[in-house]
Amino acid sequence: MQHIKEEKTFVLIKPDGVKKGLIGEVIRRFEQRDLKVVALEMFQPTRQMIDEHYPKDQVWKERLGNKTLSTYEKYALDPVASLGTAEPLALGEMVREWLVNYMTSAPLVRMVVQGVHAVDMVRKIAGPTLPYAADMGTIRGDFSVDSPAVANAEKRAVANILHASETAAEAEHEIKHWFGDKKPHVYKRYGEDLS
Ligand code: ADP
Repeated sequence: MQHIKEEKTFVLIKPDGVKKGLIGEVIRRFEQRDLKVVALEMFQPTRQMIDEHYPKDQVWKERLGNKTLSTYEKYALDPVASLGTAEPLALGEMVREWLVNYMTSAPLVRMVVQGVHAVDMVRKIAGPTLPYAADMGTIRGDFSVDSPAVANAEKRAVANILHASETAAEAEHEIKHWFGDKKPHVYKRYGEDLS
């Protein structure tokens, strides 16, 4: 069984993270909390790679669509007037297509981050999906103010700096998808021997 200090999660720095010059800042925030980068690479993804990364099931697409709907409701915007539908599934499918366009618009940085509760810690450091709702102090809250209200009107996905796995099972699946059989590096950070 995996040691508790060796939990791994998968992180992708998205096009806006790369283009805003935030690669170092993102990594710094992980390392600051004693999380360890054990695999790291910049690469240009294909549409197929991104298409296979995001789920295709109806529940996931409806969840995406509902994020649009809840933002539109909160700010009294009309989804039918701006997007032609208020159906969560139709909206989700639209957003998924924009997501593939967005994620292939620049090189990305993929990495595996390891440490105690790495999956939850990285999500906490990243902040929630929609930057306008993310607290200051999180990466998304500190470096973006994007929202479906503006992104959807511009026919694009919400730009939120990075992707991070949501569960341990998703992390395992995504590490396999993005790194294949490549093994993460094994090393000790200064201080690790003292524990
Ligand atoms: P997370 O990336 O935080 O796990 P999701 O899996 O729900 O979030 O969504 C995947 C990505 O799709 C988000 O990171 C964001 O870039 C984009 N996105 C999510 N909801 C919307 C939306 N309503 N409109 C546009 N883009 C969205």
